[in-house]
Amino acid sequence: MRASTRISTLTGGGSDGWGVFYKARQMKDAGDEITELTIGEHDIRTHATILDAMHKYAKDGYTGYAIMPGEPALRDTVAARVQSRTGVPTTRDNVVITPGGQSALFAAHMAATNPGETAAYLDPYYATYPGTIRAVSATPKAIQTFPEHSFMPQRDDLIAATKGAASLLVNTPNNPTGVVYDATTINAIAAACIENDLWCISDEVYDTQIWEGDHISPRQLDGMLDRTMVVGSMSKSHAMTGSRVGWVVGPKDTIDELISLATHTTYGVPGYIQMAALHALNEGDWLETEVGAPFERRRKLVLDLLDQQNLVQPVRSGGAMYVMLDVRAAGMDGENFAYALLEQHKIAVMPGESFGNAAAGHIRVALTTDDDLLVEAIQTILKFTEDLASKR
Ligand code: PMP
Repeated sequence: MRASTRISTLTGGGSDGWGVFYKARQMKDAGDEITELTIGEHDIRTHATILDAMHKYAKDGYTGYAIMPGEPALRDTVAARVQSRTGVPTTRDNVVITPGGQSALFAAHMAATNPGETAAYLDPYYATYPGTIRAVSATPKAIQTFPEHSFMPQRDDLIAATKGAASLLVNTPNNPTGVVYDATTINAIAAACIENDLWCISDEVYDTQIWEGDHISPRQLDGMLDRTMVVGSMSKSHAMTGSRVGWVVGPKDTIDELISLATHTTYGVPGYIQMAALHALNEGDWLETEVGAPFERRRKLVLDLLDQQNLVQPVRSGGAMYVMLDVRAAGMDGENFAYALLEQHKIAVMPGESFGNAAAGHIRVALTTDDDLLVEAIQTILKFTEDLASKR
């Protein structure tokens, strides 16, 4: 028997962009000491207070089937949090709890598109986006953004490129660039969605990690409330990547459909995980501040080092756990640069090409390694680029 075309073409063929990552892991298994600056996972684990809550609620009986929309108290808390951060009236009816942001992205695209319709997203992009769109039988369309605009989309380009599409997926703070979209960009996104009658799917899983500028959700803008689904998650904000808990916030009638989708796909999120997430959110800001602090500190360390030279320019990042570097001065594409860096210096970074075409000639550095190692790695990257540039 053969698997369906839908599933066998999910990745779109070709390289999946993870070659450098896999090679680094192989080298590590073979005994090499590798500085890994590749994946977006904290170098700390879930806080003990959250684990204690998980244990307590599991022992208290939250181990049976959970109710499909999510625990009412968690939905209320997510709604209150969204309302207080955006000023948009939000209730539990606007919230469905999902197994992480990834499942929320899938659900939102299921709600936004019919089979064969176009679902647009911005390049560079988080690696799963095109596959998620193919998984719902929609057609992915990448919209190029440019380094000279710090990879923020421009209004006229967006309006032209999304004509005839059903949805536009945006992500701020952005993975891979770390860029926090400014008001002009969010206005441009809203203009394209309204002009072309699109759903806006707004991936805001990094919304607690803002180091410069302000987080603006497209849902806040005039004319956007009924056409926006916000994807949120506890993964990045509370170092709960393995717990798989997130949500979609959107219009009530669409959330009702997503609750039906959950009944027929995930069958909900374990109750003890939801109650631990509730506990974490009720702790207030200190937990997310503590989780984000290393990234804020390391971003500054990296930018201070880059300030001392002109060859390697950082993309103007303001959030998340990444800094993207323009290494075009080395005269190589990002992928060859990353392979050479791994082979010669045992430092693993993600090539910009792993995230689409727009970030070619760049590398993404994840700020998920000890400060001293990170500083040493950046110094090596700068020296390596300098040597390559001098040989051109
Ligand atoms: N969106 C973005 C931009 C991400 O970087 C990630 C995880 N790396 C996700 C969504 C999904 O995260 P999760 O499913 O763990 O919530």
